[in-house]
Amino acid sequence: MSNTNVDIPVEIHCAKCGEKSLSTETMQDDSPVTCSNCGARIGCWGDVKKAALQSVAKQIKKKLKDDFGDAFRPQ
Ligand SMILES: [Zn+2]
Repeated sequence: MSNTNVDIPVEIHCAKCGEKSLSTETMQDDSPVTCSNCGARIGCWGDVKKAALQSVAKQIKKKLKDDFGDAFRPQ
């Protein structure tokens, strides 16, 4: 048995300063997310979460396609 580590970077960052450090108080879908470096408003938590999930899903699909090629067909 061998373990495979897949590195999946989630690229959500501040449009103003480029910092990847976000902060939110409650992690509710409608709570505001701000940059913890410059304080700029990024959006609401629901949107940030959705963008992160989409980014991860896209990278997983690409990784599987690279590894398995045509043998892997996502439904
Ligand atoms: Zn910022």
